[in-house]
Amino acid sequence: MRLINSPISQFDYKQHTFYVKRDDLLDPQFSGNKARKLAYYLENSLPHIDTLVSYGGSQSNLMYSLSCLAKLKQWNFIYYIKTLSTQAKSETSGNLTYSLQNGMQLIELKNDYNSFCDNLASTIKSNQLLIKQGGAQIEAEYGIQQLAHEIRAWAQQQNFQQLAIFIASGTGTSALYLQKHLPEFEVYTTNCVGSPEYLLKQFEALITTKQNKPNILVNDTYRFATPYAELYKTITDIQNTSQIEFDMVYDPIAWNILLNHLNKISSPILYIHCGGTIGNTTMLKRYKKILS
Ligand SMILES: *Cc1c(COP(=O)(O)O)cnc(C)c1O
Repeated sequence: MRLINSPISQFDYKQHTFYVKRDDLLDPQFSGNKARKLAYYLENSLPHIDTLVSYGGSQSNLMYSLSCLAKLKQWNFIYYIKTLSTQAKSETSGNLTYSLQNGMQLIELKNDYNSFCDNLASTIKSNQLLIKQGGAQIEAEYGIQQLAHEIRAWAQQQNFQQLAIFIASGTGTSALYLQKHLPEFEVYTTNCVGSPEYLLKQFEALITTKQNKPNILVNDTYRFATPYAELYKTITDIQNTSQIEFDMVYDPIAWNILLNHLNKISSPILYIHCGGTIGNTTMLKRYKKILS
């Protein structure tokens, strides 16, 4: 199983060279930054655990990787969601379908979801492992540190004194730990989920020692997992030029925001491909609807 040392591709677009850290080429079960965020659990045996518990979106990339982790470890996997749309119920591919095939027990909570999840940590038993929504917890640092090492080694090889690293944020966990372990470089990100204020709060919640925070390139236009015609154009252009398939949820926003801020960035740019392409079939269907 390939969980580290992803290759780096490059392409030119609008007179800029973009380097892409191909974490999407890591093991398909733990694609992208989920391989990094879950590395701690993959490398350590946790003999007292027999059940994994988590919660979040019904098409979450992390949910799918957790279902693979549970299967690999022969754990039960309980996943709480708010509601399942009729559209989601009818899907025959994508993260939800594949997670259920891996044995995930899905529990729909409706109105109780928020209060239930807020209190979940206090109900966890000694045989259970709780992984927070989006994997926003300190164990994620372990694998992100390895990603940082790979980036530093590559930058040295390229003779880059400066580097701008761009990574899309959901919980912001990956961006924050990347900046922590690459203090010599600038990490840029954008809030794909929630507001810039939400993202800052996420950073604050994970900071334990003095460190720089990643630079947030503000997204106040695009809502998460929502199709927009202009984003489709951006991502199609990028995909055609680079010949790389990107994720259709985070990456269209991320590329659009990055391309709009190029005048602010003078260093070579390394874009972290966080995987997630397994969810593209479901998201593409939603794009087709607004484009037709
Ligand atoms: C999970 C994910 C992210 C966000 O990672 P965070 O550490 O939660 O910020 C970005 N892009 C893709 C494709 C993802 O699956």
